[in-house]
Amino acid sequence: MDLHQLYLTKNLCYIAKKTMVPAGVMVHSTGANNPRLGRYVGPDDGVLGSGPNHWNTAKPNGQEVCVHAFIGKLKNGSVATYQTLPWNYVGWHAGKGPKGSANRDHIGFEICEDDLADGAYFAAVYREAVELTAYLCRTFGLDPLAKGVVICHAEGARAGIASNHADVLHWFPKFGKSMDDFRREVRQTMDGGGI
Ligand SMILES: [Zn+2]
Repeated sequence: MDLHQLYLTKNLCYIAKKTMVPAGVMVHSTGANNPRLGRYVGPDDGVLGSGPNHWNTAKPNGQEVCVHAFIGKLKNGSVATYQTLPWNYVGWHAGKGPKGSANRDHIGFEICEDDLADGAYFAAVYREAVELTAYLCRTFGLDPLAKGVVICHAEGARAGIASNHADVLHWFPKFGKSMDDFRREVRQTMDGGGI
């Protein structure tokens, strides 16, 4: 994992500074074809590159949204992770379902989507997401195989704790990966001691 940090201090979510005890991790993907981190994270720190409308603003694209991290491409094309909120801040990533919101206790990160057809890019961001999730589970003492701990947005919606989105189940299966595979690889990475 190539972990960087750039907090979105101008985002209303960061400014709210509401804290939580992380009890899980929610995996998202952006739903737009732009794999560049600079589209979402800014200002440019020299390696990010710059995008036209990053999320370091009160309401990115007019919405109250914020996640704890993004995974995507740096300016030089390599894949990295940017932490954009302290892990124990309440993020605004899951929306709401009939049983409440995963925002109250889940760390949320976005994987920047490309055109969903590039296997090499998928393999790189998938691995980065596995390692980030393993790192978070280790940091907060979480079992990725326990029910409801590591979930994607679509699974959260099904469980009634997130808005009705398809991510990441419109993407991972195209390259033969399920969320069960993801959870198992997170566990293996933790057990391997690399994270
Ligand atoms: Zn989502």
